[in-house]
Amino acid sequence: MTFKELKLHEDVLQGLDAMGFEKPTPIQEQSIPIIIDNKDIIAVAQTGTGKTAAFLLPVLHKISEQQIEEGQINTLVISPTRELAVQIDQQLEGLGYFTIATSMPVYGGGDGDGFSREKRALEDGAHIIVGTPGKLISHLNLGYAKIDNLKHLILDEADRMLDMGFYDDIMKIINQLPKERQTIMFSATMPPKIRKLAKDILTDPEEISIAISKPAEKVVQAAFLAYDGQKIELVKYLLRDNDVPSLIIFASTKLKVKQLTRELQKQGLNAKPISSDLEQSERESILNEFKSKKLQILVATDVISRGIDIDNIDMVINYDVPNDPEDYIHRIGRTARASSEGEAVTFINEDDQYKFSRIEDLIEREIRKVKMPAEIGDGPEYNPKKRGGGRRNYGRRKGGGNRKR
Ligand code: AMP
Repeated sequence: MTFKELKLHEDVLQGLDAMGFEKPTPIQEQSIPIIIDNKDIIAVAQTGTGKTAAFLLPVLHKISEQQIEEGQINTLVISPTRELAVQIDQQLEGLGYFTIATSMPVYGGGDGDGFSREKRALEDGAHIIVGTPGKLISHLNLGYAKIDNLKHLILDEADRMLDMGFYDDIMKIINQLPKERQTIMFSATMPPKIRKLAKDILTDPEEISIAISKPAEKVVQAAFLAYDGQKIELVKYLLRDNDVPSLIIFASTKLKVKQLTRELQKQGLNAKPISSDLEQSERESILNEFKSKKLQILVATDVISRGIDIDNIDMVINYDVPNDPEDYIHRIGRTARASSEGEAVTFINEDDQYKFSRIEDLIEREIRKVKMPAEIGDGPEYNPKKRGGGRRNYGRRKGGGNRKR
């Protein structure tokens, strides 16, 4: 199938051409006709599948086709994090470059000038607004946003938003929107709470789903059984024997991110941290350094594990086993994007073995356990039936309800 066969407007096709997208991905093939047809939709697809363009393209098509003039906000995209909002806005700029559509990101963290710019766009009725829940509410509460004629509401990474405690904020926003609208929901997973949200806010939706383990297929996965005290040596070992120009290390807490970065820097490694403790401008500048390959190692909490589009990462290290098996898939989805191969290595301590076995259950694959290098010494025995610390934490997401991750 081609984008032309999806009957997208000529101006949108031109944007696709400029972006170098040759043919639609499966999620795009399935969702674009439904969205063009004005039906509500719930789409289950993770990052890396082309989901962003799957909802942006049909909206850009409709704005172009109907030659909708600026003056009323046509589409509101709600995203869980600033980073994802920025990324959606960037794709929007590329895909919509040849269209009449105007857009504005509204994601907070900026200065007074930023707020005024956002306010102006909301007052003027830019076609497409992409924002995070908290910041959108601040603006909506002030009453100037031209939302009376809103046609599309898009919730991106809805599961993530609920995990971050945004349910009430989302409902507050929805209560201010016109009831006659198309609602489009994208979620990486479909737990019962997402089904319930879908039932509450969608009308007779079409449902589509892209298999969850897909983006991981090109990733070489391996695990080491290591005590916490051995992990830093293991990172150094992996970096010494492999050519890894671009590496993300995920750690479970902000404190660990800080400590680990300091340790890596002490060893002379080119590493920087990214977590919600940093100012937005600092986060963006570190991400840019990493994207442009000036920075080799990004040490992160899972604030960037979903949604952020960084290409060509050679390796992801899970310094700790993620609490939620689905986070594992998101984390390793950072590698092996486009057509490249990637490597994902997980360190499993004695308490995380049960949690790790849950990941293997989810991806229906046993991940290779690599023998610890002799110079570091043996790690713990593998005994996943033993329900260690992971059991106690399992299902309770880190910092649940904390929006500033
Ligand atoms: P997403 O799942 O939206 O995070 O997209 C993942 C990556 O795929 C992004 O870098 C997109 O620019 C890229 N992409 C999306 N759709 C296509 C397509 N049809 N052809 C090639 N690349 C695409």
